[in-house]
Amino acid sequence: MVPYVGTKMCLFQFEHYGITQNAQHAINLMFTGLEVTQEKRPTDFFLVVPFKGREYYVEKPDLGLHPCMIRCSCADFYFTFSYWNWKQGTAFGPKPRRYVRKTRTYPPRNPGHHPGFCKHVYNSLLLMQTMGWTNLKHKKWYDVYPHWDENDTEVVEPDEQ
Ligand SMILES: [Zn+2]
Repeated sequence: MVPYVGTKMCLFQFEHYGITQNAQHAINLMFTGLEVTQEKRPTDFFLVVPFKGREYYVEKPDLGLHPCMIRCSCADFYFTFSYWNWKQGTAFGPKPRRYVRKTRTYPPRNPGHHPGFCKHVYNSLLLMQTMGWTNLKHKKWYDVYPHWDENDTEVVEPDEQ
């Protein structure tokens, strides 16, 4: 995981190893609109992410609230979805080359030009959910912990002048 404090994003990276084929795929899920902070936050709503010697609290993504840009290194994702995802603004990374058919023997891929995702992206999201890395409560953390700030025992005295 790579937290981005200023832009309120967190990149979740996965590697999948094929069982039926000797294939390895890299999956990138970049969630946006997340609260990312070094201040303490409740861990049922936040992931504690160590990064470059520091500890960050990253808001657990809610799949209905936080837009996610995706990319997978597999052929299915590239040929079927990557260009159309890019057109819809849901692609993580640079503009992919548009797939041009080289044969008329097979039916065209994704003739409806729909954005979408492959089984690796699906499995990564499922893993996140199973691991408790997503927010399934449909609530914001500060509605559940309205007095969170008052638990802070450190009192900052104003400067006397
Ligand atoms: Zn894939």
